[in-house]
Amino acid sequence: MDAKTFKQFEIELESLTATQREEVFLRMQKMREQDNSLRVIEERVGDTVTCPHCQSAKSVRFGFTHGQQRYRCKACSKTYIALTGTPFVRLRDKHKLQEQAACMSEGWTVRKTAQRLGLTVDRAFRWRHLFLKFLQEQKARELTGIVEADETYFRRNDKGQRKDLPRAAKKRGGPAKGERKSDHVPGVVALQRGSRLEHDHILVRRTKKNIMAALRSALSRDAVLSTDGNESYRYVARQLGIQAGHFVASEHGHGGRGTWHVQNVNAYHTRLKNGMRRFHGVATKYLANYLGWRRLPDRCHDAVTPNQFLFHALRTQYQHSN
Ligand SMILES: [Zn+2]
Repeated sequence: MDAKTFKQFEIELESLTATQREEVFLRMQKMREQDNSLRVIEERVGDTVTCPHCQSAKSVRFGFTHGQQRYRCKACSKTYIALTGTPFVRLRDKHKLQEQAACMSEGWTVRKTAQRLGLTVDRAFRWRHLFLKFLQEQKARELTGIVEADETYFRRNDKGQRKDLPRAAKKRGGPAKGERKSDHVPGVVALQRGSRLEHDHILVRRTKKNIMAALRSALSRDAVLSTDGNESYRYVARQLGIQAGHFVASEHGHGGRGTWHVQNVNAYHTRLKNGMRRFHGVATKYLANYLGWRRLPDRCHDAVTPNQFLFHALRTQYQHSN
């Protein structure tokens, strides 16, 4: 809009009724949110500027596609946009990313989100899981100092799995009769004592090899493992060549005492379960996704803003928010 037309536009604004003003205001607010989400998306390129095809650092701006800046790599000549390499690259309605992020940061249900965004429930559900794809992978690594590690169990939930149901569907509410170990999914959590750095991992089966695989990337070489002394953790310590200490439950109590305890990691298990409760019975196949979601507030000083949500959902790397 040129300066003259804008002047005219400003004059015409004066003649709006109160209702029209409100309408324009809401419209502007929405446009600003859309601008913000596009800015967060473009910033993704700003802090990497590497070609997603060949990782070269030399790219130039190369016009626009669907309202988004396009880049061209000088090394491989391929073009890309900020969302290339993210789960969102093929999404239409990109401006709705910000709104979806807002719904998720506020903990809205899929149904409510679908209404707000004008999407079908199925589509809102798919979007939710696009947001969780990278978040799921983001875990604190190279934990150092004293690291507490312990397992926890999640109730198996085959909701949404139509084929090959392993057992008859459970009635709603109340514990199932004669629950077995196979009704639970094991997970292992490692936590750096005195910090909010944690690494959790769902295990297919609780074996020392699986625990080892889960903890290998979580622990730095100078970590000192504090556990309940289960053979699996002694095995991990031996394999990684790190120090470890443990308590004896019959002597020191269930959570341990003195230097060797798992009280922080057990408190984390409790927070984890409480945090998961608001998702109302997560299907086991999505458990890792929701754990990624639940870890986010620990990095954002408890309150996750829509922009922070979007920022982290666009990155594969674990990053702390300021
Ligand atoms: Zn390239």
